[in-house]
Amino acid sequence: MTWRVDVITLFPEAIGGYASTSVLGRARERGSWALRTFDPREATDDVHRTVDDTPYGGGAGMVLLADPIVRTVEAHPDLVRPLIALTPSGRPFDDAWARELATGPGVTLLCGRYEGFDQRALDLVADEEMSVGDFVLAGGELAALCVIEAVVRLLPGALGNDASPAEETFADGLLEYPQYTKPATYRGREVPEVLRSGDHAAIARWRRAQALARTLERRPDLIARRGGLRDEERRLLAAHGLLAGLDTNG
Ligand code: SAM
Repeated sequence: MTWRVDVITLFPEAIGGYASTSVLGRARERGSWALRTFDPREATDDVHRTVDDTPYGGGAGMVLLADPIVRTVEAHPDLVRPLIALTPSGRPFDDAWARELATGPGVTLLCGRYEGFDQRALDLVADEEMSVGDFVLAGGELAALCVIEAVVRLLPGALGNDASPAEETFADGLLEYPQYTKPATYRGREVPEVLRSGDHAAIARWRRAQALARTLERRPDLIARRGGLRDEERRLLAAHGLLAGLDTNG
């Protein structure tokens, strides 16, 4: 089944261009996902196609008018749901949300610009608000592309290799283990011996130990979220000499 993405944006070309390249472009050609874009300027009546105005109460910048957005949504009752507005104050996007979206029919992403949306646009049309991080972009288009790419990579067949998303960072609540390719020695730095041993069980154990250690060191919050370290994981870390110096109480 084709995963559907509808994007409401003042810059459809920004979305369409990126969506046609590399992984997204190939997956789209394969029919894994389909894109439609909707420009709120098309839903304006004045000659200037006005989509913004000054904020009530004063302050810098312009605010997006509610009407072009609401009329865009009303004119296209077949927009796929949920309709998610991209705002820095929304719920943080993460791998779990990407996986949830990947199991549904698709998503409509509403991109803001300038100082953001008139609140009534959000109240009237958005099912939810989403943030892609604790920073402020100039517009929602890059945020929308982050979401689209993160989800499309999870769609069956989209990467042309169904195994890879399962092994990646976050797939198991852990960061990914370090990866190496040729040559075996580069500027005096060796690829770990175990990865060249051909012993697949040992390689799997080493990778898991590295993923655990890296997550403990860099993102102890992820370890805490999965309920701390299990006894078997503690033993695995100890067996690889990775327990010392790490805070394993999380
Ligand atoms: N005045 C707004 C505020 O402080 O929340 C910021 C508006 S921002 C300059 C313009 C648009 O970029 C937003 O309406 C939103 O669509 C998008 N945007 C910026 N940062 C974002 C983020 N971290 N996550 C999702 N969208 C973001």
